[in-house]
Amino acid sequence: MAAGLFDVVIVGGGPAGLSAALSLTRARRRVLVFDAGDPRNARAAHMHGVLGHDGLPPGDLRQRGRAEISSYGGGFIDEPVVSARVVPSGFEIFGSRTAVTARQLVVATGLRDELPAVLGLSEQWGRGVLVCPYCDGWERRNDTIGILATGPQGVDQAQQLRQWSSSIVYFPNDLGEPSTKDLCSLELRDIRVERGRVRAVRTRDGRVEAVELLDRVVPVDTIFTSTTMKPRDELLRLLGARTREHRGQSWIAVDADGRTSVTRLWAVGNVIDPRSNVSVSLGAGSLLAGAVNADLTAADIARCEASATPAPPPETAAAR
Ligand SMILES: Cc1cc2nc3c(=O)[nH]c(=O)nc-3n(C[C@H](O)[C@H](O)[C@H](O)COP(=O)(O)OP(=O)(O)OC[C@H]3O[C@@H](n4cnc5c(N)ncnc54)[C@H](O)[C@@H]3O)c2cc1C
Repeated sequence: MAAGLFDVVIVGGGPAGLSAALSLTRARRRVLVFDAGDPRNARAAHMHGVLGHDGLPPGDLRQRGRAEISSYGGGFIDEPVVSARVVPSGFEIFGSRTAVTARQLVVATGLRDELPAVLGLSEQWGRGVLVCPYCDGWERRNDTIGILATGPQGVDQAQQLRQWSSSIVYFPNDLGEPSTKDLCSLELRDIRVERGRVRAVRTRDGRVEAVELLDRVVPVDTIFTSTTMKPRDELLRLLGARTREHRGQSWIAVDADGRTSVTRLWAVGNVIDPRSNVSVSLGAGSLLAGAVNADLTAADIARCEASATPAPPPETAAAR
């Protein structure tokens, strides 16, 4: 499968990459997907808010997607891509063991979440420690939810979660005393504030049971916090894609279709958009595929035009 020139190589087999692969294989393009097998939501047992798939384990969506893409002739290589370079035909792409060439390259490598440095937090990531109320709020509606603040958005997160649960505890942790305005708004909605440095997350039988402060223990069932999102965009940067600043962080810039500043290089999903949940990633992958296919078609037309024998000018024909 890995021989010859592919129309499109997609790096990343999450919702964004697989959605693009499905449309492109159905458009009868020769497509190969590289995947390192460590998606962002790997620790989540179920996926929510995805119409028609609510509650499905994330791995099942990937498996179904792969089967669909394979049925249209798409291929998979379960390897990380470690490097790529521009060549006259498009790109040469180097997996950890396999090298291929492609006319167009789509990067859908997602992002990594960096958690606050609190003992026991990472062990519960994706299970008792969560970030997205739309993904997990409904399932936690009867829990006492602790909000572990990492910045000013912590108060907003507490107010948001109050929509799901009537028992919210706000931990300002190292942020210190909330402003008078924030204290008023929290109190108005019965959100308790527990001041002091958070030392650890306590668990029992694999479930969160409390937040440990330096001088006391506060029972909670679930923790919501914010992570520092780090796009997995090394490949795009290596190839020279232009960046933009967003909320003090550098992201790869793309147009509405997912086109980067490098010709024939595309990016989609969480790698370029922190807000891209599963549904948005699926939609964006599908839109991008249409644009990639249009570019391939334009290149196919240009190639036909370049190789066509020009018709002789009328006077030459008449002279014969
Ligand atoms: C704990 C948690 C729970 C979540 N729950 C939900 C939910 O319920 N509903 C929802 O809509 N969203 C949820 N999300 C968000 C969801 O995970 C993302 O929106 C989605 O994964 C983004 O899709 P993606 O394709 O951009 O990236 P990913 O799904 O992260 O896929 C990227 C893929 O690229 C691969 N990759 C990375 N680098 C390379 C490389 N160099 N070479 C080859 N492959 C590579 C990775 O292995 C991975 O398979 C959750 C997120 C978290 C953290």
